[in-house]
Amino acid sequence: MTEPVRNAMTVDVEDYFQVQAFAGCIERDAWHHFAPRIEANVDRILCQFADAGVKATFFTLGWIAERHRPMVRRIVDAGHELASHGYDHTRADAQDPDAFRGDVTRTRLLLEDIGGVAVHGYRAATFSIGERNPWAFRVLEGAGYTYSSSINPISHDLYGMPDAPRVPFRPGGTGLWEIPMTTLRVLGRNWPCSGGGYFRLLPYSAFRCGLAVVNRRRSGVFYFHPWEVDPDQPRIANCGWKSQFRHYTNLSRMTARLDRLLRDFAWDRMDRVFAEQLASASRVPPARGMSASA
Ligand SMILES: [Zn+2]
Repeated sequence: MTEPVRNAMTVDVEDYFQVQAFAGCIERDAWHHFAPRIEANVDRILCQFADAGVKATFFTLGWIAERHRPMVRRIVDAGHELASHGYDHTRADAQDPDAFRGDVTRTRLLLEDIGGVAVHGYRAATFSIGERNPWAFRVLEGAGYTYSSSINPISHDLYGMPDAPRVPFRPGGTGLWEIPMTTLRVLGRNWPCSGGGYFRLLPYSAFRCGLAVVNRRRSGVFYFHPWEVDPDQPRIANCGWKSQFRHYTNLSRMTARLDRLLRDFAWDRMDRVFAEQLASASRVPPARGMSASA
């Protein structure tokens, strides 16, 4: 019997008030006014993963990690991969190279200090590496990362690079790997097949069929957020119908849907699913000139 194709299960660790959909109406300075729900939601996910025997990669915000240190250690102690989602969810394409270098260096050092493990992976807030900022890969490599999972090769109003490769690739001139979000190529177009809002909005059977097709050829990448398993989270009002729809639709179905997904496919941490590629990543000695608290 052949082994099933393994897919990468990933979680973007941010709280319900930090998401891109609400960025226009919640200032970063106001984040501390919101009651955090991240620990309860992450613990629920850790239990669900343990029940299903699944290991995953947790792309974690530095802002969250420094306020919830024991939670970060619980993630690591459970055998999951700790990775970086940047410090405070500022888009990579909204920063210049120096600011971006500071952001990703600070976050890696912070996560390594709290988690006690090496951090190799990075995912940009809102998949914000694309045509506007290809220099970001060089900066990530210099900051000690070996892979990024920051490109979503689809058309979307907030992100997307539809012409990017749909399989892991080495961005020009770097030793880093970019592992893009999974898409299906149908009728000359890339269709999202990696989770996010689409996973809650579309019927589960459609998603399962899509990933099964992908798995005939290769591994896929799935992502979701802790707030998506929390139907009782406080409602953010007056943020526009589109944001409300994207954020709140089918939250109550997410846990059951995720349960099916965990059992219908084989899952593992990103660094293990793509170990073959990452073994050839060049490791630039990371700069230690910046302290975690800088
Ligand atoms: Zn995010």
